[in-house]
Amino acid sequence: MFARVIVDISNTNVDRLFTYSLPEEIKAAPGQRVLVPFGRGNKPIEGFIIALSDEMQTSHEVKPILRTLEPYTVLTDEQLRLSEWICAAYHCTRADSLRGMIPAKLRGSRIKEKTVRTLRLSPAANRESFISSISAKDGSIKAPKQLEVYELLDHPEAEYSASDISAFIPGAASAIAALVKKGILIEAGRETFRNPFAGRDPKPSLPLPLLPSQAAALDAINGASAGETLLLHGVTGSGKTEVYMQSIAAELEKGRGAIVLVPEISLTPQTTDRFRSRFGDTVAVLHSHLSDGERFDEWRRIRFKKARVVIGARSAVFAPVEELGLIIIDEEHEPSYQSEQTPKYSAVEVARRRARITGARLVLGSATPSLTSYYRAKRGQYKLIEMPERINGETMPRVDVVDMRSEYLSGNNGIFSGLLKDAVASVLEKGEQAILFLNRRGYSSHVECRACGFVFTCKNCDVAMTYHKFDNALRCHYCGASAFVPNKCPSCGSDFVKFSGMGTQQVEEQLHELFPNIRTLRMDTDTTVGKNAHRDILDCFTRGEADVLIGTQMVAKGLDIPNVTLVGVVFADSTLFHSDYRSSERTFQLLTQVAGRAGRADKEGRVVIQTNAPNHRAISLCTKHDYKGFYNLEIGDRLHTLFPPFSVFVRALFVSRVEAEASEASGRFSSGVTEAILSALGGHGAENELIFVMPGAAPIRKRDGEYRYAVIIKLARTAYTAAAIESIYSYAAEKPEESCRGIEINPQDML
Ligand code: ADP
Ligand code: ZN
Ligand code: ZN
Repeated sequence: MFARVIVDISNTNVDRLFTYSLPEEIKAAPGQRVLVPFGRGNKPIEGFIIALSDEMQTSHEVKPILRTLEPYTVLTDEQLRLSEWICAAYHCTRADSLRGMIPAKLRGSRIKEKTVRTLRLSPAANRESFISSISAKDGSIKAPKQLEVYELLDHPEAEYSASDISAFIPGAASAIAALVKKGILIEAGRETFRNPFAGRDPKPSLPLPLLPSQAAALDAINGASAGETLLLHGVTGSGKTEVYMQSIAAELEKGRGAIVLVPEISLTPQTTDRFRSRFGDTVAVLHSHLSDGERFDEWRRIRFKKARVVIGARSAVFAPVEELGLIIIDEEHEPSYQSEQTPKYSAVEVARRRARITGARLVLGSATPSLTSYYRAKRGQYKLIEMPERINGETMPRVDVVDMRSEYLSGNNGIFSGLLKDAVASVLEKGEQAILFLNRRGYSSHVECRACGFVFTCKNCDVAMTYHKFDNALRCHYCGASAFVPNKCPSCGSDFVKFSGMGTQQVEEQLHELFPNIRTLRMDTDTTVGKNAHRDILDCFTRGEADVLIGTQMVAKGLDIPNVTLVGVVFADSTLFHSDYRSSERTFQLLTQVAGRAGRADKEGRVVIQTNAPNHRAISLCTKHDYKGFYNLEIGDRLHTLFPPFSVFVRALFVSRVEAEASEASGRFSSGVTEAILSALGGHGAENELIFVMPGAAPIRKRDGEYRYAVIIKLARTAYTAAAIESIYSYAAEKPEESCRGIEINPQDML
């Protein structure tokens, strides 16, 4: 027998199948990890078996596989097929595509199963002779504890850890030791799974009787054909989660499994509790706050079919669920579904492919679908399901917009408008709760000199540093560098150093000045460093231990707290005027999300948005909860200006510590790649589809001490787009000396 193996080295030079012989005594199958001798020195390297065959298919000397790394296949056949597609679609090595499908610490065997020592009765133990051995001449028992332990374990299935036995029989430790010594108790290792849910046992929940719009959505999902994609457009609070759960239940009944992706940020215990209360232990979670051991064990529970419903962030799209029936991607418009590391995949695209390979159905859910998804649904590529109403006929919350320019002109230069102040006061009076949202952490967004306009920027990065008041430091949010705030301007020497813009810390401080007895919690990257910090803050707020939760977009997602009746957007413009064609779409999505947090139970909700641009479409249409109106205007603009989905952006990045090198490389690449694209398209007479190729400094020109230049290529979307993109990749591959730092298609972050 011979095995074709991909060695676990991420390098294009070894990105091919190597043939090894499979010694008779080694049992192995495709998808299993093995140790193989590699290279001239025959260094043992980890690898994946991709296929087995009887023929050798190589003229080279064939070395034998040394051993298997796990006794089971870590990859399923489907995953092997999916990884082939990932390499082709995202131009990464096969090893890169396979690595993403297993727990990182499995590589190099840096993680082990956890076993607890358990005890059971030796098969040779005999009750009569044991009792006589501990009986005195007068028939009394000399060692009553030993007898108790013996009786507890005198059952074919009885196997407990020493600490469990001691919990049951206090003071049993020495009796246990004596029994082990006599050979009556024997030690048996038992594997356990580390439990990320420890201490959280949600009450079981039953399926709710569905409303007509939910029932229609469920029917559409259950009736969809294999491999089909559905877009579920349902306003916040329309009961999408209940629909997800009932469609999953239908799959479980047929013996099939499901994957539910939610944005990392909204993978709150509340979210997982909802699924666990319905499906119990068959739910596994995969997210970045798990310890390595927990992640490994959750992955194994899925791999061994002990868990059939996976709730996870982006990379859970690769979870080893066999007989997959359903993939659900909630909040499908979230940019976090795009990976920023190699392979730079989009979880939505991977899920579409996985659904086609496995015959599963894919459900994309959102209150504010991405323009591209809604456009596809309108064109019939996805089946569109709409759930336009909230449960129980609740109305959408009332949204008021405050023009902060007129507040300023009328003499209010604080953070809070009169309206928002009154709204907070009324919440406090009624004992209800509020969420205040501001998309910037820290105290003030930047520090500048009033006299000469000098802005304090990071020495490694080309961005303004943010002031953090608690330790009186300036911090860079890109590289983490910090600096003291000087009291004189380093440029002109004047004392007029001014703090502009505001961050969450300042909002909290001013709130306490306005309402001295207010209880606040703040949730942003600064306050959620610890493993459970995020969860603890939310739990605390849910229990009503604070009146106001202040936070960045972390507070915008997935929270469902009945007592929250006010949502304040402190300054909506912080996301609006970005140099990104999606900033208006993103702002609309974010504001709609945040607004959806208000008034989700029987209490009426209210939203106050503060802005300097009240007439901007992303704000004015959000107040009317008018997704379709927004979509129609925005998609019209995209067509007019030929932006995605009517075109594709490709970005090639060049990075160097020497600015001229990065800049020159991008210039050379730009002219070379233009020719390559034109000759690829010219064959089809489609040259006009190349809209432009533009080299230049990236919006953040310097980051972490390196200069960044980019070539942006814009292509019209037609039948030949794929060929043009292919020509860009091959051009980059032919010019390794230009050290292009990576090619991205429609990158989520153009900075
Ligand atoms: P979405 O995910 O669309 O924002 P949710 O699924 O969170 O909405 O539902 C909002 C609330 O309505 C939840 O508290 C949920 O338990 C409740 N709910 C959902 N479906 C029903 C139903 N059919 N009957 C009664 N309550 C429901
Ligand atoms: Zn920096
Ligand atoms: Zn100055």
